[in-house]
Amino acid sequence: MTKEEDAIRQHGRCCRCRKRLKRNPRFNIAITNRKATWDHPVSGEILHSGPTDLALAFLCDRCADKNRDPKWVIAFGENLKIIYHSIKDLEEVPLRKIASGINTTGMPIGR
Ligand SMILES: [Zn+2]
Repeated sequence: MTKEEDAIRQHGRCCRCRKRLKRNPRFNIAITNRKATWDHPVSGEILHSGPTDLALAFLCDRCADKNRDPKWVIAFGENLKIIYHSIKDLEEVPLRKIASGINTTGMPIGR
C-alpha cells in the first residue's frame, strides 16, 4: 500500500491522540479486532495469513511506544480521502477467529 501509505503519512492523524502523522518518524500500524466494512485499508493488505477484513489504526510513535489502544480506525473514501471511524461503532471480531500470533491492538509494525 504505497499510495495509501503516502496518503496516511501526509494527511492522517494518530488514531489515538489525533496528532498529525506527517512528521512522525515511524509508520505504526495496529491491527484491531474490529471488522472493517470497507475495502481499504484492511488487515489482508499487511498480513500474509489470518483474517483479511480487520480494521487498521495508525498511531504516532508516542502512542505506539506506550501501547495505547486506538480510539479510531482509518478507512479510505474516494480519492484516498481519509475517513475516521470510532472503534466503538464497529463490530467486534471474536478473538478465537483471529489467528494466533497476531496482537490485536497497539502492536506497532516498525519500518
Ligand atoms: Zn498518538
